[in-house]
Amino acid sequence: MNQVIIIGGGPAGSVMGSYLSMAGIKNIILESAIHPRPHVGESMVTSSTRVYKEIGFLPILEKEGFPHKYGASWHDIKGRGASHIWFDEFPQEGINQPYTYHVDRGKLDLLLLKHAEKLGSEVYQGITVKQVLFDEKGYAAGVRVKIADQEVDLAAKMIVDASGRNTLLGRQLGIKKKDPIFNQYAVHAWFENVNRGEPETADFIHIYFLPVERGWAWQIPITDKITSMGVVAEKEVFMESKGDVEGYFNKYANSNEGLKYALSEARRINEFKQEGDYSYSMEKFVGNGFILVGDAARFVDPIFSSGVSIALYSAKYGSQFIQQAFETGDFSEAAFKPYEVKMRAGVSVWYEFIRLYYKLLPLFTHFIQSKKYRLEVLRLLQGEVYDRKEVPVLAAMRQYIETVEKTENHLLRSKLTSIPIDDLPEFTQLSQD
Ligand SMILES: Cc1cc2nc3c(=O)[nH]c(=O)nc-3n(C[C@H](O)[C@H](O)[C@H](O)COP(=O)(O)OP(=O)(O)OC[C@H]3O[C@@H](n4cnc5c(N)ncnc54)[C@H](O)[C@@H]3O)c2cc1C
Repeated sequence: MNQVIIIGGGPAGSVMGSYLSMAGIKNIILESAIHPRPHVGESMVTSSTRVYKEIGFLPILEKEGFPHKYGASWHDIKGRGASHIWFDEFPQEGINQPYTYHVDRGKLDLLLLKHAEKLGSEVYQGITVKQVLFDEKGYAAGVRVKIADQEVDLAAKMIVDASGRNTLLGRQLGIKKKDPIFNQYAVHAWFENVNRGEPETADFIHIYFLPVERGWAWQIPITDKITSMGVVAEKEVFMESKGDVEGYFNKYANSNEGLKYALSEARRINEFKQEGDYSYSMEKFVGNGFILVGDAARFVDPIFSSGVSIALYSAKYGSQFIQQAFETGDFSEAAFKPYEVKMRAGVSVWYEFIRLYYKLLPLFTHFIQSKKYRLEVLRLLQGEVYDRKEVPVLAAMRQYIETVEKTENHLLRSKLTSIPIDDLPEFTQLSQD
C-alpha cells in the first residue's frame, strides 16, 4: 500500500511531497494538468523564502532568474504619490536576503513539482482524482483516479488534498462554506511595455486603489519585459459590465491616475483570464486519515499576496503531523487537529488584517507611515504570523476605526466602508455553499 497520496501538484502539493520525502515518507503526487500550466498568484511574500530554503529550492529560484521583489507600493486614486515598504526594514531571522520573488506560475509550479520528484515523490501528471475512498471505519483509504478512459482505485494510508480551488474533498464531504463577506472577481492578463515607475521601486508589486468598495489593481513584474496586470472588484461590480471583460478592465484601468499612466503605452500579450468565487473555507481541515492543505482548505482574498505562502506553510506544518502519525500509528482526526488549529490561527490573522484594511483604506496608509506601527505592519505583510498576540497593531487599527465611527465630524468618517469587522469566529457564521 502507498504511504501518502497527494492530490494536486501545485505549490502546496509539491512542497508537501518534498517535506515528506525529506522525512523518509514515500508519497505519490497526482496532478490533473500537464505542467507548465498558467495560474494566478504571481507575487510572493517573504515568509515563502524560509520554506524554499528548507526544501533546498532557493538555488533553483536564483538560477532560473525569477525577478527579485524588494518591496510593495500602494497608489491612491489621484496618483498623488505612493506609499512604499522595503522588506529589508524588517529582516527575517535565518534568511539573509532582503527580497522575495515574483513568478511565472507555470514555470514555478513545474520547477517545484520536478524538485519534489528529485527529492523522492512519485509524480504522475495528466491524472485526475475523481474521489477519495473511505474504509468501513471512516478513514480515508485511497483515491479513485481516471487514467485515459479507465477508473482505477489506489490505496494509501494517508490522503492529502492539495487540489487548490477545485476543493475536491471539501466538495465531496459537503464541508465547503462561502465566505459571508467577500465575493470578489478578478480579471487579469500579461502586458508588455508597462511603465513600472521609478527605478527604485520598478520591481515592487504595485497596488492601485480603485474607486469602488474593495476594488484594487495589481502590477507584478514577470520578466524584464512582461508585467502581469489585474483588476479586482466585487463580483456585482463585474456583473454590471455584462460580460464585456475588456471594457471592464479598461474602465477600471482608467479610474486610477497611476494605473492609467502605467498602462498608457502597454500592449496586452495574452487573453484576459477571470477568477471568481474564490472566498471560502472548509468546515474542517482534517479528518481520519486525511488533511487539506493550501487553497483546498481555505482562501479569502489576494490583496496581500498571502496565498502561496499559506499553501507552503500548510504543507510544512501538515507534513510534521503526518510524520508524527507514521511514528505513532495514530491517523485519527484528533491526531491532526493541532495542524488545523495552527493554520486557522494564521489565516485568521490575515482575515482580520484584510477586513481592517478594507474598512478604512487611509488607515492602512497612515499605519505604514507611522514610526510606531510600521514594523509591525511590515511583519504582517511578510506573512509569518501564526499568533495574533505577536501583532498588537491589529488591536490598534481596530481602536482607531472605532474612534472614527464614533466621532461624527471625523475627517475620515466618509471613508469608512460597510465591511463588518466584528470578531467572526471561523465557520460559525459562514453560509453553506
Ligand atoms: C485573483 C487572485 C490573485 C492572487 N494573487 C496571488 C499573489 O499575488 N500571491 C500569492 O501568493 N497568491 C495569490 N493568489 C492565491 C494563489 O493563487 C493560491 O493561494 C495558490 O495557488 C494556492 O496553491 P495550491 O497549491 O493550494 O493550489 P493550486 O496552485 O491551485 O494547485 C492545485 C493543483 O491541483 C490540481 N488539481 C485540482 N484538482 C485535481 C484533481 N481532482 N486531481 C488531480 N489534480 C488536481 C490543479 O491542476 C492544480 O495544479 C491569488 C488568487 C487569486 C484568486
